[in-house]
Amino acid sequence: MKLSWTPYNLELVHTFTISGFSRKTTPVVITKLEYDGLVGYGEASLPPYLGETQQSVIDFLRKVDLSGFTNPAHMEEILEYVDSIAPGNTAAKASVDIALHDLVGKIIGLPWYKLYGLDRYNVPDTTFTIGIDTDEVVQQKTLEALGRFNILKVKVGGVDDKRMIESIRSVTNLPLAVDANQGWADKYHALDMINLLESKGVVMVEQPMPKQNIDDIAWLTEHSPLPIFADESVQRLADVERLKGVFSGINIKLMKCTGMREAWNMRNLAKFLDMKVMMGCMTETSCAISAAAQLCSGMDFADLDGALLIGNDCFEGATLEDGKIVARDESGIGVRDRGLD
Ligand code: MG
Repeated sequence: MKLSWTPYNLELVHTFTISGFSRKTTPVVITKLEYDGLVGYGEASLPPYLGETQQSVIDFLRKVDLSGFTNPAHMEEILEYVDSIAPGNTAAKASVDIALHDLVGKIIGLPWYKLYGLDRYNVPDTTFTIGIDTDEVVQQKTLEALGRFNILKVKVGGVDDKRMIESIRSVTNLPLAVDANQGWADKYHALDMINLLESKGVVMVEQPMPKQNIDDIAWLTEHSPLPIFADESVQRLADVERLKGVFSGINIKLMKCTGMREAWNMRNLAKFLDMKVMMGCMTETSCAISAAAQLCSGMDFADLDGALLIGNDCFEGATLEDGKIVARDESGIGVRDRGLD
């Protein structure tokens, strides 16, 4: 198996603002894993606030020595080894995990959703994020989303939450998901906000309070009329069990959890614990989005608009159909390389 990589910069169609900062580009690293004439593709997406960089990913990938593995199908063994190379580096690890899944799916000749025993159409509608902006821009972006999406996502936790919601509500009654990104400091204020949001047609809340405020979040989940999902509070498989009773559900992202292998285990553990599950993403190409789309079936929410927000997607893959991100019926993760430009 031969591993190679290329750094690439994703250009966002619109400047993306969430409480605290704005950006126009997201760096990624695209990986390739070659074996017996087949190529598996992977990706590490590196939003600046998560700490990994193109350089740290390349430094990590240089340490990956696959010469001891002769059979790519020994995925558990290979990915245990990759995880053991260094702590952290979850996006770098995901770039190897996704490429290996793509490669092994191609060797077997099936897409992963079939290997998991899932129906690629039985997926939740993807949310589409409307960024924080002026009333006019928010209304314009909302109008553009109508007819394409069945649920919108709004970033809250700022000073003008009510205004954002009113602004969207002036043009549509579509259900809304909200993400507070830890923005509410007081549990009583958070509950008041959630009750208000529920009356405005909001259907779920992501990470309402700072991740260390476990007792407050558990209280809020107990009293909230809406399901409360962990995002910043959950990274990997080991985090899931302790969040039972604290959150209603978890937001699984490949870049946080080292890839498809662990995401699949998190999904199944959460379901076993009777917790809700959603699949999220970073700003990513259709490569990582298509990987996420493989395991989305049977989940409660999907937030997979990442590739729709960029202007230079270097892959063709999962597509938007009737408001859902649907994996292609092609082996591996179902992507085609369009060439890096
Ligand atoms: Mg979030």
